[in-house]
Amino acid sequence: MNSPATPQSWEQRADEYSLYGFTDLPSVAQRGTVVVTHGEGPYIVDVHGKRYLDANSGLWNMVAGFDHRGLIEAAKAQYERFPGYHSFFGRMSDQTVMLSEKLVEVSPFSRGKVFYTNSGSEANDTMVKMLWFLHRAEGNPNRRKILTRWNAYHGVTAVSASMTGKPYNEVFGLPLPGFIHLGCPHYWRFGEAGETEEQFVARLARELEEVILREGADTIAGFFAEPVMGAGGVIPPAKGYFQAIQPILKKHGIPFISDEVICGFGRTGSTWGCETYGFVPDAIISSKNLTAGFFPMGAVILGPELSDRLDAAIAPIEEFPHGFTASGHPVGCAIARKAIDVVMNEGLAQNVIDKAPRMEAGLRAIMDRHENIGELRGIGYMWALEAVRDKATKTPFDSSLSVSERIANASTDEGLICRPLGQAIVLCPPFILTDAQMDEMLEKLDRALTKVFAEVA
Ligand code: PMP
Repeated sequence: MNSPATPQSWEQRADEYSLYGFTDLPSVAQRGTVVVTHGEGPYIVDVHGKRYLDANSGLWNMVAGFDHRGLIEAAKAQYERFPGYHSFFGRMSDQTVMLSEKLVEVSPFSRGKVFYTNSGSEANDTMVKMLWFLHRAEGNPNRRKILTRWNAYHGVTAVSASMTGKPYNEVFGLPLPGFIHLGCPHYWRFGEAGETEEQFVARLARELEEVILREGADTIAGFFAEPVMGAGGVIPPAKGYFQAIQPILKKHGIPFISDEVICGFGRTGSTWGCETYGFVPDAIISSKNLTAGFFPMGAVILGPELSDRLDAAIAPIEEFPHGFTASGHPVGCAIARKAIDVVMNEGLAQNVIDKAPRMEAGLRAIMDRHENIGELRGIGYMWALEAVRDKATKTPFDSSLSVSERIANASTDEGLICRPLGQAIVLCPPFILTDAQMDEMLEKLDRALTKVFAEVA
């Protein structure tokens, strides 16, 4: 049924019939939705033919760009062969079998097992259910609390949103009880006056142990962390952070889960973020890059100990009562196998390693030109520039100025997509970026910053 005033433009039609997630509505009201028809390499193209260099890789995931032939062909071939199936009742596709083998092979684990979901949120929910399940089966039914950190992003389903450490979840009455948020390892922002980075890390480690002792280790199911916090604003851990906390978790028998939804498959310059930061977790959560964004898919990859414990927990009841209709979807699995190959063997991961210093240098030069950039932080192909009113005191802009949204909007006008997160501007480009495209990204961002900082001066 049409609304009384039938909307005419794409922008009006989007507005009339679609709900937006995570969208700054005043910006949309003022500027209209960008309705995208297709992509070309790292660019997206809107209904008016305007091209934008997407320095967000979609949502961190389109690492091979928007028209990678090999991935499209892999999808087409699998759609021709076997277009859909599940992983229930003792059946699964051959593609699923082969992807699991591949994922364990490329994981940091000597052996392990994989469970598939449709998204990163569901993979985190699945992991939590696995932990609850196996602790109960092992006679520890009180081990249910989940430890994460402030500013962490683990998803939007009721459990994964409870894990996410963001105040916006209050509007849903979340987190659920039993989800505990620890300090964020962002030294620049949360280090106290006179505190060294080492002391800051020691403080976070002490806090972790205090929380464990206060709550009782026998009430805690697991600890989840992104190696680099992504949607929290690209926050690499303070130096030595994971080395300081992992022994405490081990001492108290608390499984450590690395949420690699963003960091996995090359984003930080190694296959896994945990590799970059020198730790081996008990399990990995993967999604996004897993299929280079060409299919919605997530995976829980269990290391040897959790695999064995889960198998032992399942044995007496002869079934793990969990799974999604599209768990291990054959097309998703075929695409993921191809995506892993493309990223790891066709030079994409190598691009990140080779060109990250160039990107960092370009961003550092931008920071040096703008006194309202307080911090440049990141690694590999994930970076953030933090806007500040006063660099010396790290004072942020008044939030009513919406500085980062304005920078993102000014960038969009320039034909560059970048993302406002808090008062930071985030850049996480596709791995296929050429040098010329990287320069284009940096130049457009520089112009957008100049414009907005002049407006808010
Ligand atoms: N974990 C992390 C680290 C993420 O960045 C995200 C998504 N941004 C998720 C989980 C949730 O993934 P999804 O949006 O696919 O549910």
